Formats: sequence, C-alpha cells, structure tokens
Amino acid sequence: MYYGSIEAGGTKFVCAIGDADFNVVERVSFPTTTPEETFAHVFAFFDQYALKAIGIGSFGPIDINPASSTYGYITTTPKPQWGNVDFLGAVKARYEVPIGFTTDVNAAALGEQRLGAAKGLSSCLYLTVGTGIGGGAVVNGQLLSGYSHPEMGHIIIHPHPEDGFAGICPYHGNCFEGLASGPAIEARYGVKADQLSESHTAWDFVALYIAQAVMNYVLILSPEKVILGGGVMKQEHLFYMIQTELAELMADYVALPDLETYIVPPKLGDDAATIGCFMLAESMI
Ligand code: ADP
Ligand code: ZN
Repeated sequence: MYYGSIEAGGTKFVCAIGDADFNVVERVSFPTTTPEETFAHVFAFFDQYALKAIGIGSFGPIDINPASSTYGYITTTPKPQWGNVDFLGAVKARYEVPIGFTTDVNAAALGEQRLGAAKGLSSCLYLTVGTGIGGGAVVNGQLLSGYSHPEMGHIIIHPHPEDGFAGICPYHGNCFEGLASGPAIEARYGVKADQLSESHTAWDFVALYIAQAVMNYVLILSPEKVILGGGVMKQEHLFYMIQTELAELMADYVALPDLETYIVPPKLGDDAATIGCFMLAESMI
C-alpha cells in the first residue's frame, strides 16, 4: 500500500507513489491540458497501485475550507478551462481512500519542514518564484490557513524607481507576482529569463522585490527558515543579492539569523511538494 501524491501545476502535473517512509517509488509527469485529459492521465497512473491515502497539492486559488460548498475546487484561476473545477471531487469519485487537499506551496512547505531545509524546526516559509509566485508557511508545526490559504504572491511592494514596467498580474498589474515572476521578467525584456546574464539589471529588480516580500513575511510570521524555490531561483546568484538587499531593508531593526543559512534553496529540490503530499496523505488516515 502506497501514499499517492498529485502535484498539480499550471504547466505540468507530477503524480507519484511513496512508501511508508515517504520515499518516491514511482513518478510520472505530464503537461496540464484540459481537466478531462489531465485527470485521465492521473487515473491511468494511480489505477496501477493499491493506495492507502492521497495528498493533492494544487495550483490555485483553491478552496481548502472543508465547510464550504466548493471545498476541493480550483476556483478563480485565470488558466483557461480550470476555473471552478471540482478537483477533489474528481479524485474522490475514483478512489475510496482518504484524500488531503491543499496548495502546491503548502505541500512543499510541509515537506521541507518535516524532512528538508527546516527539519527539526517548528516553522518555515516556502516561496516559489516560477510561472507564478506563491508561498506557504508552517507555524507551530501546522500549515498556516485561515478563511482560505495564503496568497503570498499578490502582495503590494514598492517598484524600483527605474523599473517602469507596469506588471502582468491580470488582477493587480504590478503586485509581487506581476513584477517578479518568470513571465513578468520575460514580458519586461522580451527574452527567456534563463537567457539573461548574471549582471543584467533584471536581477537587481527581482532581488529587490523578493527581498521586500521576504521582509514582509519575516516581520509578520517570524519563520525560522525561509526557503526559496521555483524556476527563477535556479539563478543561484539571486540568493546572495536577496540576502544583502534584505539586510539593507531591515536596517538592523530586528536581529535576523545568519542570512546565508536563513534564506536557502529547498533541500528536497523538486521533490518538496511530492513528499509534502505524501505527508498530507498520511495525516488524513
Ligand atoms: P512552474 O511555476 O510552472 O511550476 P517553474 O517553477 O519551473 O515552473 O517556473 C517556470 C518559470 O521559471 C518560467 O517563467 C521560466 O522562464 C523561469 N525559469 C526557469 N528556469 C530558469 C532559470 N534557470 N533562470 C531564470 N528563470 C528560469
Ligand atoms: Zn496579483
């Protein structure tokens, strides 16, 4: 009997099964197309295995309030055909096992807190900077949620005075995600983000925005570890730039831990959300 993990991204889905120690036993990945076609791939994979529970970590916004009539739905996503989709219902109709449902970044935060960069700590913040920007937090060993899940990518930050870019968030224009996500970098300069040299001004802007965001999260939540993942953070030089910028912005107002070990990449790498989904699955039993 295995744990099942469904990591649902706007670009691709990753499905995996894991053993009792949360080791990945088998994994498949496929592009996120229509819900119908994508779920067919999900079911074709899991139908091969005996599952004891499933954890779903999905792109959002999603409804994670069990008391809500649309619990388990992807709600207002701008992604075509995926708005108002009953994700949890579709999986429940197929598998009669306990199923947990949360955001992809919450799953990654959980994985990193239990077995990754924040192992042994009771709190952490996980931020992904990729196609979108999203964050999840573990506080006192529990995923932070209230009336809904956090939406840490859409906070308001100060644009750099020399950054005239209007931003690409369809809702807010120049919110954090609108200015610093991979597609925002690409819309600003007309080239793929991974093609820009390390000395390009783009990284000064991006590092400033991520540092501002991290400053806000740190001041509000005081996490014991800040983990930055996602495609854009593959630019390793950004870590030093963000650490330096954050120190400057904080201006010694609060004493921060050693920034080199405080603001770090995910230790579980691309497995963070998958392992977190196994843990979520276990917690449902
Ligand atoms: P997703 O957010 O869809 O799960 P990723 O986290 O890989 O996927 O993010 C994809 C985004 O990250 C794209 O906009 C891409 O241009 C950007 N990206 C991927 N690799 C790099 C890189 N090495 N440097 C800068 N940006 C990158
Ligand atoms: Zn926004």
